Amino acid sequence: MLIGAMNHPGNDVVAEIEWMSEMGLEFLDLTLEPPAAASWRADPNAIRDALRRHGMQVIGHTAFYLPMASAFEDIRRASVCELRRCLEIFSIVGARWMNIHPDRHAPMHDRRFFIEQNIRSFQELLPEARRVGVGLMIENLPGDYNSAPQLGELLDPLPELGLHLDIGHANLQVPFNTTEEILMAYGSRLRHVHLHDNKGGYADLHLPLGAGTLDLHRAVRALRRCGYDGTITLEVFTPDRHYLAYSRDVLRSIWEEEAPVEQHVSARG
Ligand SMILES: [Zn+2]
Repeated sequence: MLIGAMNHPGNDVVAEIEWMSEMGLEFLDLTLEPPAAASWRADPNAIRDALRRHGMQVIGHTAFYLPMASAFEDIRRASVCELRRCLEIFSIVGARWMNIHPDRHAPMHDRRFFIEQNIRSFQELLPEARRVGVGLMIENLPGDYNSAPQLGELLDPLPELGLHLDIGHANLQVPFNTTEEILMAYGSRLRHVHLHDNKGGYADLHLPLGAGTLDLHRAVRALRRCGYDGTITLEVFTPDRHYLAYSRDVLRSIWEEEAPVEQHVSARG
C-alpha cells in the first residue's frame, strides 16, 4: 500500500512534489486544476522529472466541477475536450489511472438524463484513454453517486471504468458509511482510494484522520478484505502539514493492525 497526497491547485506542482517527498509520501495525486495546476499551465516534463528524481509514483485527478453531463451540448463537449487534454498530460507524467467526478448538474432534467449524458462523455473519452494507456475511474460523491446501485448506473454499462473509492465521501448524507456496500459490489474494480475524516451529515470537512467520527479500522478492514494493496491519498486539507504527517502515521499503523488473519496463520505454519 502506498500513501500519497494531492497538490494544492493554487501552488506550483513541482514545489508541491518537493515537500511531499520530504515528508516521505510515496506518490502524488496530481490534480490538474486552475489556477496554478491547470492542464494548460502544468509542465508535464518537469513534473515527470521531479517525480523520477524523488522516486514517487503518480495518480491522475481532474477538477470536480467539470460539467460533463451538461444539458448545453457545447459545454458538455468542452468538458470532454478538457478531460482529453488531462489524459495526454497524465500519460506523459506516467499515471496509469485518471479520476473523474460524475456530473449531476442538469436542472429541469431527471436523473436518467444526466446519467446518459455522463455515459456519452465517457464513451467519447474511452478511445483516447486506450490510446494513451491511462484508464478512467469514477469517484463516489455524496448525494447522487454514493451507493452501490447509484455507482452501478455508470459502472455496469461501462465495464472498462475503474472504481475510485472516497471513504470520507462514503460517510456523508447516508445512514451508514457505504464503503462496505460499495466494495462488496465493485471491490474487484477498485483502482484508487481517498481517505479523510468528517462527522457525517452534509459537511465534507476533509479532517485529519481521527478528528471526525469515521470508523477507520472498519474501513481499512474492508479494503484489506477485498485484497486491495494500492494507492491511498490522504485528502487532509489543513494548512498545517503536521496533521497530514500525523494522518500518515495513523493510516500506516491501522493498515498493519488490520492485516488479514490468514497472513498471520500462514506466517506461523
Ligand atoms: Zn476525494
